[in-house]
Amino acid sequence: MAESKIETIYDVAIIGGGPAGYTAAIRAAEYGLKVALIEESAKLGGTCLHVGCIPTKALLFNAEIWDHLKHAAEFGIEGIGAPTLNWAAVHQRKNAIITKHVKGLDFLMKKHKITRIVGYGRLLGPARDGVHELEVTAAGGEVSPIKAKNVILATGSEAKMLPGLKPDDRILTNIEILAMEQIPKSLIVIGAGAVGMEFASLFRTFGSEVTILEFLPRVVPVEDEEISKEITRLFKKRGIDVNTGAKVEKVEKTEAGVKVTFTDANGAAQVKEAEKVLVAVGRAGRTSDLGLEKTRIEIERGLIKVNEAQETAEPGIFAIGDIVAGLPQLAHVGAMSGMIAAAKIAGRTFRPVRRDRIPGCTYTEPQIGSVGLTETQAKEKGYEVKVGKFPFAGNSKATIIGSHDGFVKVVADAKYGEILGVHILGPQATELIAEAVAVLELEGTVEELMFTIHAHPTLAESLLDAYGAVEGMAINA
Ligand SMILES: Cc1cc2nc3c(=O)[nH]c(=O)nc-3n(C[C@H](O)[C@H](O)[C@H](O)COP(=O)(O)OP(=O)(O)OC[C@H]3O[C@@H](n4cnc5c(N)ncnc54)[C@H](O)[C@@H]3O)c2cc1C
Repeated sequence: MAESKIETIYDVAIIGGGPAGYTAAIRAAEYGLKVALIEESAKLGGTCLHVGCIPTKALLFNAEIWDHLKHAAEFGIEGIGAPTLNWAAVHQRKNAIITKHVKGLDFLMKKHKITRIVGYGRLLGPARDGVHELEVTAAGGEVSPIKAKNVILATGSEAKMLPGLKPDDRILTNIEILAMEQIPKSLIVIGAGAVGMEFASLFRTFGSEVTILEFLPRVVPVEDEEISKEITRLFKKRGIDVNTGAKVEKVEKTEAGVKVTFTDANGAAQVKEAEKVLVAVGRAGRTSDLGLEKTRIEIERGLIKVNEAQETAEPGIFAIGDIVAGLPQLAHVGAMSGMIAAAKIAGRTFRPVRRDRIPGCTYTEPQIGSVGLTETQAKEKGYEVKVGKFPFAGNSKATIIGSHDGFVKVVADAKYGEILGVHILGPQATELIAEAVAVLELEGTVEELMFTIHAHPTLAESLLDAYGAVEGMAINA
């Protein structure tokens, strides 16, 4: 390493170049801080860009087009015949999107004069005279010291595996499934959180026989119960075999693929066979080899405890993104936590992350978008609750695009009319939810929103109807 780098004391050194880390780096640089970004891979972007949000949503968009083509004749488009799917071309498009954004990040790092350091970063202990020392190990084994007044840990997460299993060409995590050279004839998905549900939806559209095995009593368990119930019905209608309350006992390889033994909700032993199995049972924080034991940083089930400014128990060390305890592992939460840490370090004002203001999006067919309290959570918190529900069947834009499944559900406080939660299952739910996030952030009431003009004809009008439905006054249903 060049002498000048050894002598440099950065204002902040960030370990991990995923959405949390690179966002923190850019924001810190925007505040005028001197920033080093340490990333093991030569390519920035982390899980999100390479094996998470972006590639999955690229493939899901292919699936959406594929679905539309299947119904082309309904829209008066003839001559499509029997469309075929060029899986290699689908992958190429996905990879091109990733490459474009990797280059974009490289550009942003240069634009903001952020020092990029390629290698594996570790803490060496608490700060001495206000300066932290880190070591960075390059791929070739060369170790270099880095000095910084503040450190942000943003090392992300990796897929949890079931005990005794290792990922390979048949037992898959998000990494292997995104690299498959062919669409599997059959797929078992273990875990019905957002990741499992999205892959189930995607491969069903592309023709795979899909089985979902979920341990909890319902799929997408963080969502409102009515959303779980309706998407289960819609998935079953699409031919997806949904099993909830299913305890996986054993995953074995067979000559042709895999065999999964599970106990079903009635306590009976069941066996399912498929070409591949996806294990989507959650994500573990990458905290094990960071030198945390040399600090006062507190760990909770493998994740780092922080305060509302993202500070750990070790002064001058922050943690953001998927490695943080108590927050959902989502790219937008990671990015915001990075902006908060940067603001704190720069001595600027910030607003802490509020759990009930975080949008959750699942890009299934149909999509889910939600924010705030579910009906059950609102009641548990002691609110007297009023609920409004409006089906997309009553929305004219939904008819135009031929996508009628689902509904908008608004959970409001009966006393003051404050909107506490919005839960959308249906077309473009992941886009529509942005309005609801703003409504909650600004503490909007049902009355205010009932008199907020929504353009016609739009899917967003379904929100206007759902606000009205809280008072039993939807127009279109
Ligand atoms: C299949 C899938 C789909 C998803 N879809 C969505 C979605 O649609 N929307 C959404 O909001 N979220 C989604 N997520 C979650 C999202 O990907 C994560 O929340 C997000 O990537 C977390 O960002 P992060 O920066 O904390 O960590 P990561 O993105 O995991 O990045 C961490 C980075 O740190 C690097 N690193 C780790 N240790 C070290 C070290 N010691 N030294 C140097 N570098 C290190 C890693 O190489 C990596 O680049 C999805 C996840 C998966 C798996």
